[in-house]
Amino acid sequence: MDHVRTLECTLCGETYDPEQIVYTCSNHPGVRGILEVRYDYDVVRDRFDEPLDGNIRDQWKYRAFLPVDADAEPVTLHEGGTELYDAPRLGDELGVRMRVKDDGRNPTGVLKDRATSVSVTKAAHAGRDVVTCASTGNAAASLAGYAARGGLDCRLFVPGDAPEEKLAQPLVYGADVLAVDGSYDEAYDLSMEVTEAFGWYNRNAAVNPFQVEGKRTVGHELAEQTQGDVPDWLVFSMGDGCTIYGGWKGFREFRDLGFVDEVPNLLGVQADGASAIHDAFHDHDSTDEVVNTLADSIAVGRPRNTVKAVKALRESGGTSVLVSDEAILRAEKTLGSTEGIYAEPAGATPIAGVRKARAEGIIDPDESVLAVVTGYGLKDTESAMRASGNVTEITPEIAEVDRRYDSAE
Ligand SMILES: *Cc1c(COP(=O)(O)O)cnc(C)c1O
Ligand SMILES: [Zn+2]
Repeated sequence: MDHVRTLECTLCGETYDPEQIVYTCSNHPGVRGILEVRYDYDVVRDRFDEPLDGNIRDQWKYRAFLPVDADAEPVTLHEGGTELYDAPRLGDELGVRMRVKDDGRNPTGVLKDRATSVSVTKAAHAGRDVVTCASTGNAAASLAGYAARGGLDCRLFVPGDAPEEKLAQPLVYGADVLAVDGSYDEAYDLSMEVTEAFGWYNRNAAVNPFQVEGKRTVGHELAEQTQGDVPDWLVFSMGDGCTIYGGWKGFREFRDLGFVDEVPNLLGVQADGASAIHDAFHDHDSTDEVVNTLADSIAVGRPRNTVKAVKALRESGGTSVLVSDEAILRAEKTLGSTEGIYAEPAGATPIAGVRKARAEGIIDPDESVLAVVTGYGLKDTESAMRASGNVTEITPEIAEVDRRYDSAE
């Protein structure tokens, strides 16, 4: 990997060899010393010769930017290359010009597939045969899918109360799903212990420095897709904070290389009941680690990537907001009914955030907004039913239909 210079600690600046499997900096207790991958952009630029013409089959178009060996065979299901939609009816509803990138349309239904493809490619290339992670659901399903694709064993730690769809999916992909009687944070700690004890390759986004790097491709794509019309605001939901940071890093790299003229302001959105990054960004005290939100994918009490997420918000000149569960469910319904885009709660959270930011005057009506939908709606049908209300039951008689619609047209 001659295009990867070093792994650098975000807290103390200590550097590590990118060819070794290192997760976090040993100068700090626990997993606080998150590492950042640094590149040699002269090498990257020499290698990158793709036309930025909006034709994106998948994220491997940006292979020159990904931290994998030149001779590694990608483990891919064609993640990335997702559609960017104008969203005029949603924009009318929110009172601002809206575009939506639908990353729920990735192979396992989640933006995380971008990162998983990179780490499973690395694990396979390094000759590892077991991959693991702790997950609120989506990372587990994603890892299981890519492990199956790459012929690796997959052992997952999930909180016992994850939505059923998110447990069924990795089982179909053939993974061992270990439901931990406890919270996501406890499942996480356990996965770190087994990584240390048994040497399984750990995909945990926040500690595996290469995970965030795959998520940069959403930023590369957004830059390519918005050339000449970069949005004023780019909106992500935040759980551990890797997604927003990855998206930011990718966009910023394309600006720094001169592929786009400007970068958007970031708006990071969290749920009222899981607000640690928002609290850190606004310097609020946050002692309360108890999470309470139905948006399970962002129900993170102790985000592992707060430092990177806060850095992204600051560098972009952006900010963060909190939204209620009711607002998230309303956003899921609004997005689906105005634009035909079906998101799980964490995927619709950015839409709720835009509504909030408009109401608070953070986003002006003449600005343009691009929201990234991170996860697909069929991942959590129970929440979807709560968002949308029930079906209407009728008897099989035309008179009843007629009565309802008064449809003698
Ligand atoms: C994981 C996830 C997020 C949050 O990503 P982080 O990197 O944890 O901030 C948002 N939406 C969905 C659907 C996710 O699965
Ligand atoms: Zn350090």
